[in-house]
Amino acid sequence: MRRILWFRRDLRVEDNPLLAQDGEVFPIFIFDSNILSKLPANDKRVTFIFNTVSSLKTKLQKIGLDLAIFHGNPPDIFKALAENFDEVVASGDYDSYALERDRKVSHLLHFNYQSDTYIFRTKEVLKSDSTPYLVFTPFYNKAKTLFTSKHLEIIPNTTQKLFDFEYNVLHNFSNNIVSKLDISLESIGFVEQTLTKEQLLTPQEKLDIFSTKISAYSNDRDYLALNATSELSIDLRFGTISIREVLRWLQVQKKKGIDTEPFFRQLIFRDFYAMLLYHFPYLESQNFRYKFNGINNNEYYEAFCSAKTGVPIVDAGLRQLLETGEMHNRVRMIVASFFTKNLLLPWQWGEAFFAQHLMDYDASSNILSWQWSAGTGVDPQPYFRIFNPYTQSMKFDKNGGYIKRYVPELSNISIKFLVDEVKLYSYAILNYPQPIVNYKESSKKALEYFKSLTSK
Ligand SMILES: Cc1cc2nc3c(=O)[nH]c(=O)nc-3n(C[C@H](O)[C@H](O)[C@H](O)COP(=O)(O)OP(=O)(O)OC[C@H]3O[C@@H](n4cnc5c(N)ncnc54)[C@H](O)[C@@H]3O)c2cc1C
Repeated sequence: MRRILWFRRDLRVEDNPLLAQDGEVFPIFIFDSNILSKLPANDKRVTFIFNTVSSLKTKLQKIGLDLAIFHGNPPDIFKALAENFDEVVASGDYDSYALERDRKVSHLLHFNYQSDTYIFRTKEVLKSDSTPYLVFTPFYNKAKTLFTSKHLEIIPNTTQKLFDFEYNVLHNFSNNIVSKLDISLESIGFVEQTLTKEQLLTPQEKLDIFSTKISAYSNDRDYLALNATSELSIDLRFGTISIREVLRWLQVQKKKGIDTEPFFRQLIFRDFYAMLLYHFPYLESQNFRYKFNGINNNEYYEAFCSAKTGVPIVDAGLRQLLETGEMHNRVRMIVASFFTKNLLLPWQWGEAFFAQHLMDYDASSNILSWQWSAGTGVDPQPYFRIFNPYTQSMKFDKNGGYIKRYVPELSNISIKFLVDEVKLYSYAILNYPQPIVNYKESSKKALEYFKSLTSK
């Protein structure tokens, strides 16, 4: 059997089902031009992916294999390769673009799908009538009853023979012309970006750090100064660690007497959202409930995208995102609520903005979280719940350290002003705008708008 091993969201050599396939193998990675052509040359994620792919290539060489690197439209590349192979092996990727791409490839070559990205298979956690869960808590309860040692198993590597190929160049497919280029970021049209110290940590280093924090995870995770979360989302996104390895690590913590349930619950959230998008692909752009479509307002949208809304915690979150590609979960919730409720902008615009900048961007988590915030999704927060950005910052950024770190114009302003809208309006801050909307008035307007639509 001759197999193409297509690495996508599983960029590692340990505990990887692709490396458990025997026979003659051809490990490949494709820099997908359909995706990359929409990104600016300074996209940080491409630097992260390029570094990770280079390191994967080295690790594969150490076990007697290699990685062929392509750039182009995946179906075109498979058209050129298919006749030499019996099948392509790849792990699941469930957004609509990925499913359509895989469908096209499956017409060219037998597609052997492996379950690797999530804890459960797409149809493993279903209601008793075999339909998907629409509410998280019952999904979570069912998931717990189905969770067994099989979800923790290590997938061992097997002995594989490497397919003979030119591995030391980048194979570029463009308009039916194939060229051989240097393996470099420049060859695919990108410029190397500086990543933060945390983004350069390996997943194992992150787990070591997190083992000193996990016992306080439930209490501390929302406090912005504490850095109390695992920072693993980017690794889970690109599969630089297997979800099973995270779960095995969690078992070790549990055996030490630590309450691991709050963290496990978040991992199940990730599965829940992925399963929802798999079963209801239309959620990518359409509401599950209510016709809240938002109101187009370019002035608000521009203020938001340039992190100049005049609301300190919102601007701090947006500047963290623009500077580092990251944003704390609590701030993502505050920002998304402000966007969809106080600015009444379409959630799809906010989702697209996050998609453009988040290092850990994952279609299912991002789309379903935005729909949750907008009150339009499956199992949403009630539409009448609107986060108050001022009381949120008072609670979770008590000393204003987060705001001041990312919005230097506010570094000398007393925290009392930053969490009080009336004071912000009454006092001109040098180089910093006043809030573009008044929280109380815009919340009232949002409630009236939502009410008028739900009663129709
Ligand atoms: C509007 C909005 C957009 C979001 N977009 C994304 C996204 O594109 N990609 C993404 O991975 N997460 C997204 N999240 C979820 C969450 O914010 C991040 O997973 C989390 O901040 C990552 O930090 P961490 O790894 O330190 O998380 P931890 O708190 O350490 O959690 C561990 C893991 O559990 C998963 N997880 C945690 N919280 C959630 C959640 N609410 N929903 C789904 N999975 C979760 C992640 O894989 C995370 O790495 C979004 C949340 C909101 C409110």
